[in-house]
Amino acid sequence: MAVVGWHRPTWVEIDLRAIKANIEKERANLPNDVSLLAVVKANAYGHGIIEVAKAAKEAGAKGFCVAILDEALALREAGFDDFILVMGAVSRKFAKLVASQRISITLFDVEWLVGLEKMVPALQVHVKVDTGMGRLGLRSMEAVREMERAIASRDDVVFEGVFTHFATADQLDKAYFEKQLGCFREVVEALDTRPAIVHCANSAAGMLQDQSGFDAVRFGISMYGLTPSPEILPVLPFELQSALSFYTEMVQVKELAPGDHVSYGATYEATEQEWVATLPVGYADGFIRAYSGFQVSVDGILMPVIGRVCMDQCIIKLPYKYPVGTKVTLIGGPNSADVAARHLNTINYEITCLISERVPKKYIR
Ligand SMILES: *Cc1c(COP(=O)(O)O)cnc(C)c1O
Repeated sequence: MAVVGWHRPTWVEIDLRAIKANIEKERANLPNDVSLLAVVKANAYGHGIIEVAKAAKEAGAKGFCVAILDEALALREAGFDDFILVMGAVSRKFAKLVASQRISITLFDVEWLVGLEKMVPALQVHVKVDTGMGRLGLRSMEAVREMERAIASRDDVVFEGVFTHFATADQLDKAYFEKQLGCFREVVEALDTRPAIVHCANSAAGMLQDQSGFDAVRFGISMYGLTPSPEILPVLPFELQSALSFYTEMVQVKELAPGDHVSYGATYEATEQEWVATLPVGYADGFIRAYSGFQVSVDGILMPVIGRVCMDQCIIKLPYKYPVGTKVTLIGGPNSADVAARHLNTINYEITCLISERVPKKYIR
């Protein structure tokens, strides 16, 4: 069990109203017969899988997508009886468990079914087609047809869905995306039987491309109010509301004299009389060492993180003296997940996923 810092003034705030609003806007943007599946893998991108799943369901999500079997089991354990698809690989040795929990799994290798014991109840499967992502999936029409025949030969395996995943849906240049989409449509048309759930879109494709003819979108990053990429932000069909903010409070405020140093390695040296504050947050909380030099904010005023970020603490430079206990925004407002991503040379997805379990989550309903 992870120890959570309930007695330390460092926390994330998750606005479930924002999550619901983002889902409602995307549902209004979709054709009526296309379902929204909430992607809640990786503890809902760091937002908390159970709370987010509840909010998503209330906002009209028709089921959930996760990456690993344990995430699906956690949802079942919490009482969700909705559709759940595990998008990553699941070992054959868990087939009975998967079937008994009525979890849908992804198949991408016909060998998976060879010699599989009799499934009771039947196993629900989605066939993954690799149309250009190069990650998981069957890579030829022939392989898909062979998989379809292997499934059809068993009365205890249900061909519930077929899907693919786009590599460039978040780019303005649509050439590669169109190639993948065309390939997927061809594969679906070549099937003997069209399964109930044909799906391909992630957030970017679900917002920007017409989903007529498909049955579901897998809505991830934008449910949390973040853009799939900075470049498509200006062309999104509706405004997103980010759900997560990361806060802490100043625990010590002090004045440095010229020549005084800060943190490990004594890499930061004051050049004048200056005010600094120590914050009870560090790399063990997901506020990683690369945040050194990043700007956090107090009431919208940006202040730099100086010296090295420690495991549990870091230091910021203040423009003038502030009282101990002043609230500091680590992620949120002017220093949004997108701004943080730019500083860390990564993407906003990684910013929220990085925040560790030691940081408690407070939910706004
Ligand atoms: C994570 C994931 C998604 C969701 O992608 P977003 O960009 O977060 O919307 C959809 N499909 C698959 C296969 C995924 O792995």
